[in-house]
Amino acid sequence: MIRRIKLPGWIVIVFLVSGIIFGVNQSVAQVLKESSEPNEKIADSSVYPGLNIKTQTKETDLYTFSVSQPYTENKQINKPIDEWIDQQKKEFTTGIKDWKNMLEENDFRAHLNIQVETEKIADKIYTLEFESYQITGGANGMTKMKSFLIDLNQNKLLQLDDVFQLNEASIKDIQKLILDELHSNQEISSYIFDDMAEKVLKDPEKWECSVSRKGVTFYFDEYEIAAGAAGAIKAEIPMKKIKPYLNEKFAKKIDVKIPEKENRKEEEQQTKDTVKLDPDGKYVALTFDDGPHRAVTPRILDALKKHDAKATFFMLGSQVEYYPSLANKVAEAGHEIGNHTMNHQDLTVLQPNKISEEIQQPSRIIQKATGKTPTLLRPPYGASNDNVKQIATDLGLPVVMWSVDSFDWKSRNAAAVNEEVMSNVAPGSIVLLHDIHSSTADALPQLLSSLEKQGYQMVTVSQLLELWDEKGVGPHYGKIG
Ligand code: ZN
Repeated sequence: MIRRIKLPGWIVIVFLVSGIIFGVNQSVAQVLKESSEPNEKIADSSVYPGLNIKTQTKETDLYTFSVSQPYTENKQINKPIDEWIDQQKKEFTTGIKDWKNMLEENDFRAHLNIQVETEKIADKIYTLEFESYQITGGANGMTKMKSFLIDLNQNKLLQLDDVFQLNEASIKDIQKLILDELHSNQEISSYIFDDMAEKVLKDPEKWECSVSRKGVTFYFDEYEIAAGAAGAIKAEIPMKKIKPYLNEKFAKKIDVKIPEKENRKEEEQQTKDTVKLDPDGKYVALTFDDGPHRAVTPRILDALKKHDAKATFFMLGSQVEYYPSLANKVAEAGHEIGNHTMNHQDLTVLQPNKISEEIQQPSRIIQKATGKTPTLLRPPYGASNDNVKQIATDLGLPVVMWSVDSFDWKSRNAAAVNEEVMSNVAPGSIVLLHDIHSSTADALPQLLSSLEKQGYQMVTVSQLLELWDEKGVGPHYGKIG
């Protein structure tokens, strides 16, 4: 913190300060008053219709001061913003009071800077993200973040409930997203006190966050959840990850158009909802790796269609690059497309940046071909470790293995494939197959009939995972990672 003033001098200073500071108080208060009562007419020229801004600056021998403050015609909206700004100013005034002597002795001016970033996230909906920095006598300045969400359609400030679907489960999930994000940031990870963070995150009332089109950023004051060395902390959760927890009405309103894929995803979600699985049903997820293959994949599609079966295709970027229309055909038939990396390398031996590249590149290619971004990753060879899982999860692609291996790649024999699968399958199984061997295409009609006879319904991996999430259980054996 700060060098202490020697005691004998201290007593004298207190008297001295209180007299002079009165003047400081007055001048800051005056500016403060001006700021809370915008008198000028709201100009129509703002690029943010309905929203205007003013910046006030002041300079004295003791301090400098700059505050940017957006405002609307609605006093109810302006009020909490004014109040927060006033609070910062009050703290600043107190700080100057406390450190007056120090400031003068060191010929140092205190400084308050409140800046704002404005983002239009939908028609007449704006996010104001304030950053207040103040330094008075202390060696370190203090940064505070505050965000307001203004909805001029409803003429109100949106509250946490308007933005999120808050319930016990979603709060827990959001908490986890934030903690994961904090820990994935190497610069601050080691400073985080998990117990403090959890305490803050448990209580939505304590959340400080701002919504943008890219996602939701959560803020933590200095010392709130970490050692001081970490400073004020931001955790940015991408829209893709936070969207499931947004209040439905709000999500619809901001209609986040993260390219086309999000739109498509919504359609996808809707279809998914309509075929919600029965928790007591008998399901199996067939998965086909390494395609799409120009000759085998179409045959697989035909067989699946005949049995009204849905499956998941873990495609290679290198294949989709060659056969984008085939990939699209698979997607259009209602099957799920997962990511099987770009070049089928063993991810566990690659450097982190290379792992990311191997995962991200095919996602882009698949998105371009089908309009949908894969949400699952199957690492080649089932080769995964904590590092791979972490990177994949951070990229929004949980790692999915399998519980039944058909060994189709080994036997290359239709009868053997059938035998292998049927003797190991159980409700909830994820079956590993490959749509690059004609023997697998040969095996499929019989396999689907056998499964059907036993009462199985063939669904996608995502559908199965969703069901597991609800039931809290998955297959109890095999390679699920
Ligand atoms: Zn493979």
